[in-house]
Amino acid sequence: MGPHHPECPDRLRAIGDRLIGSGLDSYLVHHSAPAADDDAIALVHGRGYIAMIEAESPESGLHYLDPDTAMNAHSLTAARHAAGAVVLATDLVMSGECRTAFCAVRPPGHHAERDRAMGFCLFNNVAIGAARALKVHGIERVAIVDFDVHHGNGTEEIFSGDPRVLMVSTFQHPLYPYSGLDNPAANMVNVPLPAGAGSEAFRAAVREHWLPALDEHRPQVLFVSAGFDAHREDPLAGLELVDADYAWVTRELVAVAAKHAQGRIVSTLEGGYALSALGRSVAEHIRELVTA
Ligand SMILES: [Zn+2]
Repeated sequence: MGPHHPECPDRLRAIGDRLIGSGLDSYLVHHSAPAADDDAIALVHGRGYIAMIEAESPESGLHYLDPDTAMNAHSLTAARHAAGAVVLATDLVMSGECRTAFCAVRPPGHHAERDRAMGFCLFNNVAIGAARALKVHGIERVAIVDFDVHHGNGTEEIFSGDPRVLMVSTFQHPLYPYSGLDNPAANMVNVPLPAGAGSEAFRAAVREHWLPALDEHRPQVLFVSAGFDAHREDPLAGLELVDADYAWVTRELVAVAAKHAQGRIVSTLEGGYALSALGRSVAEHIRELVTA
């Protein structure tokens, strides 16, 4: 996204460093992310959109797709591998080779709509994984859980009205992208929270809105848009969550997956811009996924 931008390469270094420092890394199996090809991406994005992103990719310098979303010479390659990570994770989890997977990827994806890049996102990684589970693996019901502090407008636009996909989310409102106040279809459970809401309001939203909907939907695999920018140390928002909230919500999701989905969870990184808090929160998230 350019120099001095919060969506920076150090985010992944902070996560890797914390996983090593916490001792968790030795319990993980690492996979390199392959590049997703057009067919994998076209499960959610238009062929014309993919061709447009290819055409807009600059040979040098920065090229802005919208005021928030830039590409440099390497962004397209990174975006294909970010989507490819979720593709591989979906295949590993659906084949039973892994029970849970976390994709440490940039750029994030949940703001990308079918035919529109926005909010640092080019391809909607989590949607590509969910669509793959449905189309390639023949799954009938998936859930997408989004606890990023920003509303996942792209995922909503892609799956709104698709009864196979339940999307549950919490996000700060008002805040970018200023969507999600209404539920556009029965398969969308949006819970906007005010700035400063904190742990108790977040956990109450999960208990009262997410968990009953998830129980009713009985997803056969859970996808997580794991953004950690609702943390109280994050510079981009003010929802005031703490490290322990990410462990708590992951335990709740592990319980849902154990009940309905044979424990299958595919989680992928979205936001999270306070480097230390990001590393710690991801470690809390992954610890619960590993011990599930
Ligand atoms: Zn975010």
